[in-house]
Amino acid sequence: MELDVQLIVDWMKKTNEKMQENKPYLTTLDQPIGDGDHGINMARGFQEVENKVTKETYETPADVLKDIAMTLMSKVGGASGPLFGTAFLKLSTAVKGSETISYEAFVNGIEQAVAGVKQRGKAEAGEKTMVDVWYPVSEALTEEQDFSAEVLAETAKQAMENTKDMLATKGRAAYFKDKSQGHIDPGSASSFYLFEALSDVLKE
Ligand code: ADP
Ligand code: MG
Ligand code: MG
Repeated sequence: MELDVQLIVDWMKKTNEKMQENKPYLTTLDQPIGDGDHGINMARGFQEVENKVTKETYETPADVLKDIAMTLMSKVGGASGPLFGTAFLKLSTAVKGSETISYEAFVNGIEQAVAGVKQRGKAEAGEKTMVDVWYPVSEALTEEQDFSAEVLAETAKQAMENTKDMLATKGRAAYFKDKSQGHIDPGSASSFYLFEALSDVLKE
């Protein structure tokens, strides 16, 4: 199967639904190891994304992915906006020119997205950030031959849960030092919802 513009629009609608539903939960996660705004940031950002991508018409996946990136970068006030924005911008650039995204192109795009987030956040895997969901997802995708809704959702969920025991060394959570342990990283939780939303639309 291949991803087209419509599927990406559906992915964003589903992501927004999850961010709205889990807005209080994401905020709860950001209270002990942050400033308690992650739910607000994600709910606002993905509502803006849904508004934008359902209003416009797009020729190629790269066009819609670029608008997602720009919207997240400009409408989300926290660290997470530019980071999610960078991920979508890298994904857009990686698939530029094609009418649909093959599995191979998607895997390459996610690899580029991970590299972009790592560079922008100066973060490596294991530092208790969203990289700890994006990187394992990228690794798991390379093991597969085609889109697997199950692998996507299960890998992202497990990766999110694994951030609980990690010690934060980047972002606001790093200020909490040892006290950052025992809490799921908020950006990893929102990244899980994003990948779970893709998994959901792949099943439909
Ligand atoms: P802020 O910390 O500015 O309030 P948010 O609360 O919206 O922004 O987002 C926090 C999330 O952003 C963290 O849980 C983490 O996943 C991610 N994050 C923060 N800093 C970095 C970084 N340097 N590299 C990668 N991800 C980061
Ligand atoms: Mg915050
Ligand atoms: Mg903030």
